[in-house]
Amino acid sequence: MAEQPAKKLEPLHAVKGMNDILPPDSARWEWFEAKVRALMARYGYANVRTPIVEPTPLFVRGLGEVTDIVEKEMYSFEDAMNGDRLTLRPEATAGIVRAMIEHNALYNGPLRLWSNVSVFRHERPQKGRSRQFHQIDVEALGFAGPDVDAEQILMCRALLRDLGLTDSDVRLELNSLGQPAERMAHRAALIAYFEAHADRLDEDARRRLHSNPLRILDTKNPSMQTLVEAAPKLIDFLGAASLAHLQAVRDILDAAGVVYRINPRLVRGLDYYNLTVFEWITERLGSQGTVCGGGRYDGLFEQLGGKPTPAVGWGMGVERMLLLLDAVGVAIPVTAPDVYAIVPAAGSLTVAMAYCEVLRGAGVSVLMHAGGHSMKAQFKRADASGARFALVFGPDEVARGEVALKALRDPAAPQRTLPLAGVAEWAASLRTA
Ligand code: ATP
Ligand code: MG
Repeated sequence: MAEQPAKKLEPLHAVKGMNDILPPDSARWEWFEAKVRALMARYGYANVRTPIVEPTPLFVRGLGEVTDIVEKEMYSFEDAMNGDRLTLRPEATAGIVRAMIEHNALYNGPLRLWSNVSVFRHERPQKGRSRQFHQIDVEALGFAGPDVDAEQILMCRALLRDLGLTDSDVRLELNSLGQPAERMAHRAALIAYFEAHADRLDEDARRRLHSNPLRILDTKNPSMQTLVEAAPKLIDFLGAASLAHLQAVRDILDAAGVVYRINPRLVRGLDYYNLTVFEWITERLGSQGTVCGGGRYDGLFEQLGGKPTPAVGWGMGVERMLLLLDAVGVAIPVTAPDVYAIVPAAGSLTVAMAYCEVLRGAGVSVLMHAGGHSMKAQFKRADASGARFALVFGPDEVARGEVALKALRDPAAPQRTLPLAGVAEWAASLRTA
């Protein structure tokens, strides 16, 4: 049979709204994640990892049927093997709570947890809004007091500071959603108010009027802002206990010098919140200005079939944080190797690789030139790598048991030679310098 010429295949593309994170940008992500890990250690939060895919009913029950996410943003599909209804997680909390209930993980007492997750929402992609994005998620499970609400806000402020942001870059808004009974009284007032102005409601709001009127307050429609501004405020329906909880959070924040504003319209996008809710917002990213949001969700464990368990948490959008750091001009240190190894002759390669292993063993980072090329080309790559030093494994030096050392960031420094037997010692001096 005659051989067919190979057919040229069309290149494939990533799914719309799902981004590749490539070097050098990925180094900024690693820098950010290292700051996050250090923060979690300082506050005693333990890492948790749960599956990306969960049964669809977890989110329908957990987030509420009349939320943006459940109504129109979930990537849901049928398992082709057994027909199960599955969803790519659109947020982190429901999965973590499911795991806690399933493993009875709070058996020995409350837990402080954090996670770094990819999440998926079918939204219109734009700056600061993608379909796969990343969240740093923090949860304190089994604590009822306002002290832990405040702790979580303090943590978030500490992270923002660690990243080089100030109060003029991000502001904190705080509110209380009270308890279910208080929300019911407010809900009745809200429905009456919106019914009286039915002609000014958009389609979304009309649909939500009787199913979830609180959500109308969360609208992003500019033409509804004045109407929503004058709506009955939940904070006016709170009883003594809810007000005391809010005041206790405020007292701690005030004592710690946290700047915030009470925003009675802040309701958050998910149904599971009660009492404390908060958002960190920036003016620098247009309408995608919320970089972090969170609050208390004491009802979620029961909602998902667990024992009543108080809980509080927040989620921070990593893409938006990196955009914000860019907009503010925060300098993120670039990572570069300590040493670029130049190998002008193939015959030196074996020795060069052995000594580069010695260097790496001593904690020095070494980028090894590969693929031959002229000295000039190798020096060009060495410069581009950002390395502090080039080690040149020339055949004559190697034959003498030496290697040439050049300080790349200091053109005035003369080239010198190191005995190969002394590279470990030189590496140690680098580490302590
Ligand atoms: P928004 O009102 O902007 O849609 P949200 O209330 O839906 O935000 P949360 O569910 O609270 O957002 O998620 C926590 C954080 O994740 C947000 O504060 C934001 O920084 C980020 N985030 C939310 N949706 C997206 C998205 N589609 N792309 C990138 N980041 C996002
Ligand atoms: Mg949203």
